[in-house]
Amino acid sequence: MKILREIYGVNDMKPSKRYERETIAIHGGEIEDLKYGNISTPIFETSVFSYPNINPGALLDKNRNLPFIYTRLGNPTIQSLEEKYAMLESAEDALAFSSGMAAISSTLLTFLKKGDRLLSLNKLYGQTLDYIKNHLTSYGIEVDFIGVEELNNLSFDPRKYKMLFFESIVNPTMEVIDIKKIGKELSQYNIITAVDSTMASPVNQRPYESGIDIVIQSATKYISGHDDVTFGFVSSSKELINDISIKRKVLGGIPDPIQAFLISRSLKTIFLRVNKQNENALAIAQFLKSLGIQIVNYPGLSSFKYYKTAKDNLDGFGGVLSFDLNCDYQSAEKFMDSLNIIKKAPTFGGIESLVTMPWETSHTYITEKERIEIGITQSLLRLSMGIENIEDIKNDINNAINKYKN
Ligand code: PLP
Repeated sequence: MKILREIYGVNDMKPSKRYERETIAIHGGEIEDLKYGNISTPIFETSVFSYPNINPGALLDKNRNLPFIYTRLGNPTIQSLEEKYAMLESAEDALAFSSGMAAISSTLLTFLKKGDRLLSLNKLYGQTLDYIKNHLTSYGIEVDFIGVEELNNLSFDPRKYKMLFFESIVNPTMEVIDIKKIGKELSQYNIITAVDSTMASPVNQRPYESGIDIVIQSATKYISGHDDVTFGFVSSSKELINDISIKRKVLGGIPDPIQAFLISRSLKTIFLRVNKQNENALAIAQFLKSLGIQIVNYPGLSSFKYYKTAKDNLDGFGGVLSFDLNCDYQSAEKFMDSLNIIKKAPTFGGIESLVTMPWETSHTYITEKERIEIGITQSLLRLSMGIENIEDIKNDINNAINKYKN
C-alpha cells in the first residue's frame, strides 16, 4: 500500500515534494493499494481489525503507532481523510469527529478540568455557547466572556486563563477576529488558543499558520459543502492532537468510515466551491447595497467596519452575509417566502443558496432585548451564497423585494 502523504504536503520541507493546496485537496492522504490500483481511497467499513496483526507491512494507526484494531480508535479511511485535512490547514495533525459539536466538546474537555479558567468570546454559535455556559461550568470549570473589541484589542490578562476559545468570524453580524495579532501576542504565554474557523473554512483562513494552537471546523458547512453530511475536525500540533485523540476514544465522537469517505470526496472540490461562493457573496453584498439597503454586513465590503481586519486575516471573504430589510417581521417573512431559488434553512456553506432569520433560529437563546442590542432585528436576514448563476440569484432577490412591500 502506498500512502500519498509521503509524497505530498505543504509542510514537507523538501521543495521537490511540495505541492499547492488545490493539489493536496485532491491527492493528499489518499490510500492507493497497488494490488488493486484504486484511484480513490476505499471505504474500510469495518468496526474491528484482525488482532494481533503481525504483518510487517501493516498500515499503522497514527494515534497509537500500532496496526489498526478498532474503528473507534482509528480507521484507515478516516485516517486518510485526517491526513488530507491536516495538510489543508497547514497543521501537523488532525482528528475527525461525527459533528462539529463533538469536535468542540471533546477538545475543550481534553484541556479543561475543575478549577481551570476558560476565556470565551461572548458571541458564538448558540449550542457552543450553551455548552460552555451551562455544561462546562457544571464540571467546575470557570468561564469569563469577552466581546469582539476586547478580544481584538487583547484587553485581558492571558496569565489568568488555561484556554481561549472564539470563532474567527462572528455569525451573523460578521465581525472579524484579528487571529494574526492574537496568535502572535499570545504565543509567549501558556494559554492554549482554540478557534472555530468554520465560517472561513481552510480555503479562506489557516489560523494554525498564524500561531493559534487549535483549529476546529464544523465540516457540516463548507467542507461537506452539500448540506448532506454532519461532521467535525480538529487540527493542531502532533502533541495536542494526541491528547485530544485520547478523549475522542473515550467520548466516542468518531465518524463512520462512510461519512469520512463523503467528506474526503467533498474536500476534493472545496477550492472550486468556496472560491465561487466568495465571488457570489461579494457580488450579492454589492448588489444589495446598490438597491439602497443600508445595513449589509459582509467582510469584503470596503465600507464594512471589519474590512481591514478581514483583509489582513482572510484570503477570501466567505460565502455568508447578512442584511437588514428595515421592516416588520411579517414583511421579512414575506420576502423570504417570495424567494424561489434561495431556500429557507438555518445553515451555511453548501452549494445551494439559503436564507434564514437569526431572530427566530440561531439567536433564540438570548432575550429579544439582547438580540436588538447586537443588531439582530426581526428584519435582519442571513444569506449563505451557493454556486448558482449570479444573475439568477439577483433576479430572485429583486423579485422578492418587489413583492414583500406589497
Ligand atoms: N460552529 C459553528 C460556527 C456552527 O455554525 C455550528 C453549527 O451550525 C457548529 C460549530 C456545530 O457544528 P455541527 O452542527 O456540525 O455539530
